[in-house]
Amino acid sequence: MWALEREVMLKQLQSYGIKDDQILKAMGRVFRHRFIPQEYLTIVNPYGDYPCPIGFNQTISQPFMVAYMTQKIEVQPDRKVLEIGTGSGYQSAVLAELGAQVYTVEIIPGLAEHARETLAAEGYGKVKVLTGDGYKGWPEYSPFDAIIVTCAPEQIPQELVSQLKEGGRMILPLGVGFQDLIILEKTAEGMEKIRDLPVRFVPMVKGRPCER
Ligand code: SAH
Repeated sequence: MWALEREVMLKQLQSYGIKDDQILKAMGRVFRHRFIPQEYLTIVNPYGDYPCPIGFNQTISQPFMVAYMTQKIEVQPDRKVLEIGTGSGYQSAVLAELGAQVYTVEIIPGLAEHARETLAAEGYGKVKVLTGDGYKGWPEYSPFDAIIVTCAPEQIPQELVSQLKEGGRMILPLGVGFQDLIILEKTAEGMEKIRDLPVRFVPMVKGRPCER
């Protein structure tokens, strides 16, 4: 089940311009449907190129966005990558498939717990999941080679910038409502900033999330 859908997803990603073979292979190996709660699998194709619900009013990013952002941070084996907004855990699994050491932070405890369980069950138990506020990053494991933010802050979180290695890259959707994807590169002289695609992500919430 789902092998055909996964193949179609890969073809679609290629047709959208994703050329990195390692990323395509990694996404061909991760069982995306396992990261989406069972109750939604009857109403959506988990491999379709759109975001899917994962409960708690949150969504898993569409496959194209996962591939695109992963491509932009140039993941290599053993690089330390911090993800903000674990959600289902799918993006983390793709990063882990590429051989990265993955640290991921999620503010909603129920999602963090679910992601931890799914990641372990799918063979990605080495991914470290922190239940907490992503604005703080994960100082104990910093600095990171790359940071990928999958929820949208209104401003660039400076604490995250400070946890990035020199030469490292951070990618984030920036703004309210609709956002632009921003790619930052930390150089010896400071930060280089590239404005990329217009995108739509859920907001990066401040402080404690409301109980749902
Ligand atoms: N990368 C995820 C999808 C993320 S959806 C995946 O592969 O499934 C965005 C996630 O960011 C949501 O789960 C939301 O709860 C989380 N989030 C929002 N604000 C946050 C914050 N301040 N710190 C950490 N996570 C946050």
